[in-house]
Amino acid sequence: MSSVTQGGFPPPERSAAAPGVLSGQRLRDLVLDRTKDPELAEAVTVVSQVLPFKVSSYVLDELIDWTDPAGDPIYRMTLPHRDMLGPGDFAAVADVLRAGDRAQLRKVVDDVRDRLNPHPGDQLTRNLPGLDGPGGTGIQHKYRDTVLVFPRQGQTCHSYCGYCFRWAQFVGRPDLRFALGDPGEMTAYLDRHPEVTDVLITGGDPLVMRTELLARYLEPLLAPDYAHVRTIRIGTKALSFWPYRFLDAPDGDHLLRLFERVVRSGRHLALMLHLSHPRELATKPARQAVERLLATGAVLRSQAPLIRHVNDDAATWATLWQDEVSLSIVPYYLFVERDTGAREYYQVPLARAVDIHHAAVRRVSGLGRTARGPVMSTSLGKVLVSGVADLGAERVFVLQLLRARDENLVGRPFFARFDPAATWWDQLVPRSESDGEFFRGLPPI
Ligand code: SF4
Repeated sequence: MSSVTQGGFPPPERSAAAPGVLSGQRLRDLVLDRTKDPELAEAVTVVSQVLPFKVSSYVLDELIDWTDPAGDPIYRMTLPHRDMLGPGDFAAVADVLRAGDRAQLRKVVDDVRDRLNPHPGDQLTRNLPGLDGPGGTGIQHKYRDTVLVFPRQGQTCHSYCGYCFRWAQFVGRPDLRFALGDPGEMTAYLDRHPEVTDVLITGGDPLVMRTELLARYLEPLLAPDYAHVRTIRIGTKALSFWPYRFLDAPDGDHLLRLFERVVRSGRHLALMLHLSHPRELATKPARQAVERLLATGAVLRSQAPLIRHVNDDAATWATLWQDEVSLSIVPYYLFVERDTGAREYYQVPLARAVDIHHAAVRRVSGLGRTARGPVMSTSLGKVLVSGVADLGAERVFVLQLLRARDENLVGRPFFARFDPAATWWDQLVPRSESDGEFFRGLPPI
């Protein structure tokens, strides 16, 4: 999509070298200038006290259609909206802001945040390394073969998604943050865990880091001592939020050379691209970035949650998957919106998510049907909602674990009572005693 007319407000700083990013008052002023809507502008001020927001100049100028912000999926994905908070919470924050009482504001905001389930999936208590782990909170070892690494310098993104399930890491509360400051802790952990074949470098977005810093995490993994690490994945939304990272950013070329070294070492390098809407793939910089990434030998896979106001219809997903296949990106996961943050604003009932996924699949050829979903990433594992079925007189959700802490549970269908309003795992009820096994199993890794 080409640049959208901006009105009289001066555009944010444009530079391919470093993203001009707007947040706080500057973001509010820009929204007011481009929309002329004081309610949308007030929402920026109030909601961003509670949830983190920042938006890159690329998103503001190249992705959002300002002629219809309320109906624009990218606006809804990246900009605050008053409905992201309950009416009472919105009014409470707005009142205390007007009163100018900073101490009270902190209290009210912390209270609202605590009720937004800042750590979904028991991440703080369930996913930490075992007793022989590094003792920090920058590594998660959820499944036997896969370790997640959260480099400290990668705990932010080029822009934020309003539905981010890691929002708690971005709001400046140390008790709510994962971060690993030293790549040596990662390698020390891998020394003790030769069963690990996959390392996922994640964040935030690890590609906000300078290449030199990222290399400190990737290059040790290429040594013969870590031959058991066969696959390196990098989770990122840089293609959507700042594609210049792969083009003419100062060390964009260095980044691509680093990826080439990983591939030459014989490791499988997968860029796990967070792609929510076809528009993210429609710009010239995004397409150039895809070409350059593919030339390194990396494999590009895509994943995103199904989000109300953003991509909650079959046509959007079908177009996204078709475009991805055309560009040699492999559709991987369609997730369910997590039970955290502005969930009520973004969530879609599971039954509807199943319908959307199935309808989207029917619109594309076999190569576009590789995105598994809808999938809930729960503390138990990755739960696929395969469909809805009638067993005798009873309607049920048909479920299956794709990944689990207990591998014995993987692949076996199980059932929950159908509930048309259910949006998340914790609202499901096992159909029978034997199905209850799947809801209980949380053996330590
Ligand atoms: S890109 Fe990922 S980590 Fe960053 S804000 Fe969006 S969902 Fe969160």
